[in-house]
Amino acid sequence: MSLSAGTSPATLKTLSPSRAANFKQCPRLYRFRSIDRLPETITEHQARGTAAHLALERLFDLPAGHRTADRLYDLFREVWTELRAVPEYAGLFGTIDEERDWGLKSLGVIANYFTLEDPTDVTPLRRELEMTEDLGEIGIHGILDRLDERPDGKLVITDYKTGAAPAERYALPAFFALKIYAMLVRRRFEQTPAELRLMYLGSSTVYSIRVDDGMLDGIERQLLALTKAIRRAIEQDNFPPRPSILCGWCSFRDICPAFADPPAETTPAEALPVLSAAAG
Ligand code: SF4
Repeated sequence: MSLSAGTSPATLKTLSPSRAANFKQCPRLYRFRSIDRLPETITEHQARGTAAHLALERLFDLPAGHRTADRLYDLFREVWTELRAVPEYAGLFGTIDEERDWGLKSLGVIANYFTLEDPTDVTPLRRELEMTEDLGEIGIHGILDRLDERPDGKLVITDYKTGAAPAERYALPAFFALKIYAMLVRRRFEQTPAELRLMYLGSSTVYSIRVDDGMLDGIERQLLALTKAIRRAIEQDNFPPRPSILCGWCSFRDICPAFADPPAETTPAEALPVLSAAAG
């Protein structure tokens, strides 16, 4: 497959935290999504994630005393009624029973939110905050789930996940995108966030890490190195696949050269130079 007409290193003007994370995880995944722009079928898991994010966003539109579990369930149903009218979601379930089972499982997942925090105690500073910052070499654009201000005035970034948490020793890479958001928040609000939280509703788990300026300086350097690595990959049309446990969730596994027969055109070992360069 050749690069799309007009794709050149110069066309990479902005990068989102999730696309940067894609390239770091697997350059071929980045190419499928960002350059080839191949359509991806929405999965039940993704539909649950989208509906849960929207329901939780709307929960915080309500006065604190109204942020109950029943209200969140109602909001989830309301959001799903809207989503299922959208063509991408319309054909997700073959039967009403499948849709009902998914709905019940989804309500069980969002019920776990109340085991992780009490929403009547939370006053988000911003929700679904759109952020664009110019790093000179590249613009970074993304949407942050939630930014809170703790009673001591420190900022906390929270990201919801509807899946189950990975084992703690594998959790750190999941913070990569949140560290980028923390760097963007530092630039915009001139305040370094104190904490990043990943809230895994699927398993009632919260992972959090502390943030400092050294970490955010490092992530800015890493992003600039990643930008160079992506531009080099575009120039050379070199996006090697990098198989990992995450391939199980990849929409492109069926067309990925790493799983082709005969064997992959590029081995995981060959992918390493690109990733090393990206890591700076
Ligand atoms: S299947 Fe795995 S190696 Fe292939 S593109 Fe997806 S994440 Fe990368």
